[in-house]
This record gives sequence, C-alpha cells and structure tokens, in this order.
Amino acid sequence: MGDIDKQSVAGAISTGTHGTGLRFSGFSGTVTGVQLMLADGSHLRANSQENTELFEASRLGLGALGVLTHVRLRCVPHYMMRAEEIIEPIGLIAESFVERAREEDHLEFFWFPGTGKAQVKINTRLDGQVPAEQPPAAARWLNDEVVSNGALQLLSSVSAALPKTTPALAKVACAALPESSRIAPWNEVFTSARRVRFTEMEYALPLANFDEAFARVRAYFKRSGTGVFFPVEVRTAAEDSTWLGTASGRQTAYIAVHRYIRDQAPGYFAAMEEIFRSLGGRPHWGKEHTLQAGELAQLYPKFSDFTRVHQAADPEGRFLNPYLRSLLGA
Ligand SMILES: Cc1cc2nc3c(=O)[nH]c(=O)nc-3n(C[C@H](O)[C@H](O)[C@H](O)COP(=O)(O)OP(=O)(O)OC[C@H]3O[C@@H](n4cnc5c(N)ncnc54)[C@H](O)[C@@H]3O)c2cc1C
Repeated sequence: MGDIDKQSVAGAISTGTHGTGLRFSGFSGTVTGVQLMLADGSHLRANSQENTELFEASRLGLGALGVLTHVRLRCVPHYMMRAEEIIEPIGLIAESFVERAREEDHLEFFWFPGTGKAQVKINTRLDGQVPAEQPPAAARWLNDEVVSNGALQLLSSVSAALPKTTPALAKVACAALPESSRIAPWNEVFTSARRVRFTEMEYALPLANFDEAFARVRAYFKRSGTGVFFPVEVRTAAEDSTWLGTASGRQTAYIAVHRYIRDQAPGYFAAMEEIFRSLGGRPHWGKEHTLQAGELAQLYPKFSDFTRVHQAADPEGRFLNPYLRSLLGA
C-alpha cells in the first residue's frame, strides 16, 4: 500500500503502485485474475488458467491492453498496525537500512537533503483485534495538517522563492518532525494527506545496489549544495513475477526524489537518473523518467512478450497515446 488511497485499483495496478516491505509485493503482484474489455469491444477473463499471457501482461498493463473491468486480488484479513516514527542520523539509517528492512514488516525513511537527520517509519502488523492506541485527535491534526502539509507548503514556497534559504529551511523542517508511536488500523497508518504539490522520480534498484546508490545520492548533495527542499524517500519491495513490475525477478529498494512544483532544481532529476540507471534501476511507470522502449527493453526480460501480447490485444493501437508509443516502441 502506497502513501495515498486516492488511486483507483485499476490505476494502481496498471502503473505498479507499491508501498514498502521486503516480504510484500506492490498491488500488481497480488492480482490473481482480471476481466478486460478489449479494443474490439469483446470481454475476456484472464487468469493463471485461461488467457494466461494476457493475464501476465495485464497485471501491469499501463492501460495499453484494454479496460480492466474486474480485478481479483489476493487479500488478508483486516489487521492493526503499530506505527513508530523516529528521527535518526542519516548515516545510521542509510547504513543499516537493508539489514533492518529484512527484519521489519514495513520500513521506510525520509531524508531532507543536506540535513544530518532522517525520519524513519517502522510499521509492524498486529492482529486485527488489538485495540487502537491513538494520540489525542488535536495532536494528530497538528502533525498531519500543520506539520506535514501547512508547514511543508510554507517552507516549500519560501525555498522556491529564495533558494539560498533552502539548507536552513530543511533544518527547520527536520527539527519540527515529531517522534511518535501509535496503534491504528492499517489503512490509517499507510496513507497520508498529500496537499503540497510536487513532482517525483522514483527508481527501483536491485537491493544489493542500494548502499552504493544512496551513497552516490548523498555525495551529489554534498558536491552540489542543497537547492532541493523536498525529502528523498527510501522503500523496499519483495521480488515478484509480473512481466513489467519494477520488482520483477529481484528484491528491490526504491529511491524516490521529489521537487516542489515551483522549484526548478535544474539538473537534479537528470543527475539522479544517471546514478540510478548506472546501477540497474528501473523507473516507476507512473512517475517522471526519460527512458524509451529501447532502454526499457534492456531492463525487462519479458518486455518483448509484453509488446507481442499488446499487439495481439490491440492491433490498431486504440489504447495508445504518444507517451505510451514512446514507452512501447509501437
Ligand atoms: C500524491 C501521490 C502519492 C503517490 N504515492 C505513491 C506511492 O506511495 N507508491 C507508488 O507506487 N505510487 C504512488 N503514486 C503514484 C500513483 O499510485 C499512480 O500514479 C497511480 O497509477 C495513480 O492511479 P490512478 O487511479 O489515478 O490512475 P490514472 O493516473 O488515472 O491511470 C494510471 C494508468 O492506469 C491506467 N488505467 C486506469 N484505469 C484503468 C482501467 N480500468 N483499465 C486499464 N487501465 C487503467 C491508465 O490508462 C494509466 O495508464 C502517488 C501519486 C500521487 C499523486
């Protein structure tokens, strides 16, 4: 489960939406069957027994194969979650992240570039009968609405208007981050209100390459100074077998870089993309990147199977737009 719950199930599946946890795949990995309306108006069921190739492709279909009208997902019973948010030195969490991610259910961290601290989120699954232990509503509101949204908006705007203040503002934001512990239903813990507009690039790296990738990201900020206010986010996912899944065939660490919508940050995403690509990174299908079909084909062993199934499902390319054509080479 990702950061928000505003997506449709079909949209989340079609772009490979994921959360964090080395024992858990993103949404696509939980799909066990679909019904699709194809370009010719016909309806088809696809699962591991019937139309199996179409099934494999449509578990992450980019909207290119047809309209998903029904989806069957592997589910678990309702559960509660212990949610801990702590502040740690960036060196400590960066160096221990992979090892700790293997032990925790859902571990992630946010780092304001240029500061020495990170906000670490540790979420642990509990039985669904465990009673909630929530801080008072006023404290939650202060954290969710004022600290995470109102203050973030204000600091982001100042940073964009006066880039030289960014390092100081990042330190202020980092110092304001509260530490907390609570027990709440899973859906309340995973998702947050995201009212500050930003753009994002996220790459999926082989887990074994995380340490080097993150060290290079930190070195970039040290070299270039910090013109960027928005935090870097780090997550993981279990290996899955989806054809175009960013975690297909490998345990995965994700590094996401963000820019406030009005922040120019020239060269930032390009520099990050160069690091991620040199270490075998695959871009999130629903976020910014510059790759096209030829490069994507190198990253996914099943890429040509996908394009073959796509060609058979939608020979006239009715579901394609210029962007999809560039991704699929169609
Ligand atoms: C604030 C914010 C936070 C986010 N957090 C995360 C996160 O934590 N983790 C993460 O992985 N991603 C995250 N995302 C990305 C987001 O999950 C994806 O962009 C997702 O695809 C959006 O879903 P949607 O329903 O809006 O789909 P759309 O953007 O409407 O569509 C996405 C794709 O799905 C296709 N599609 C939609 N419906 C169907 C259908 N019925 N049949 C076939 N194809 C269909 C569309 O054609 C399109 O190609 C975030 C995005 C935002 C804006």
